[in-house]
Amino acid sequence: MLKIGSHVSLSSPHYLVGSVNEALSYNANSFMVYSGAPQNTRRVSTSLFRLDEAKELMKEANIPQENVILHAPYIINLANTVKESTYELAVNFLVQEIQRAQEMDIKVMVLHPGSHVGAGVQLGTQQIIKGLNEVMSQVDMKDTIIALETMAGKGTEIGRSFEELKAIYDGVIQKENIGYCLDTCHIHDAGYDVSDFDAVLDQFDLLLGLSNLKVVHVNDSKNLLGAGKDRHANIGYGEIGFDNLIKIIYHPRLAHLPKILETPYIDKKAPYKLEINSIIKREFEDKLIERIQADE
Ligand SMILES: [Zn+2]
Repeated sequence: MLKIGSHVSLSSPHYLVGSVNEALSYNANSFMVYSGAPQNTRRVSTSLFRLDEAKELMKEANIPQENVILHAPYIINLANTVKESTYELAVNFLVQEIQRAQEMDIKVMVLHPGSHVGAGVQLGTQQIIKGLNEVMSQVDMKDTIIALETMAGKGTEIGRSFEELKAIYDGVIQKENIGYCLDTCHIHDAGYDVSDFDAVLDQFDLLLGLSNLKVVHVNDSKNLLGAGKDRHANIGYGEIGFDNLIKIIYHPRLAHLPKILETPYIDKKAPYKLEINSIIKREFEDKLIERIQADE
């Protein structure tokens, strides 16, 4: 069965119960949360998250726990060699975030590898490796997976090629706790032609191992192939296009993986219900914007 969902909010007062209900309102059977605001590191205790109620609700709705993904906040930058405090904050915060994932019973945590902020890919990569090894020595990882995300290459982002992710993997000691998140918009923006997706997957498999892929972020892209920009578009409204995205979503080699939409809101309203509907029907929703504006 297709595992499809979107990122949803996790916030006061309903916390994870609110997240599950939001996912259900989109007819999703999978979802991704940030354990607090993605752009800062303020976090409330997971004891407030109403975890038991959320689990009960998921059981009723037939959402298996493995379809829930956590995303580390994107301000975390393990690659920073320029400002020691940024790196230290990243390590400390990641340790906490892994503990929070375990408290929430979430196995896969997506992480942007980091940006080298001018120091160069090699130094940045070394710092990411150092950081991941430090994090993993400070916390009992158990079966938690840090899923390194494929990046678009915006600014000084590391992880814009499978080779760059492989270099990180090679330096990590506890390899069993490393996995990957493939973002369709990011790899397109980084220069991978997803219209030949089998070739992309073969390359991924060769370098990173397809069995290490844990989640797919499904987004169209506002930019041309290789633009190195990272601007998500609604499904079928970008340069990747509906048919290519459908092929990826229903690709037999990815059938077991959750597919998470992070497409832009329209007039401050989430597009996910209509997008998921169009994915399930495999029919392009050519009135997406009008229908959302009309509050359908
Ligand atoms: Zn991400």
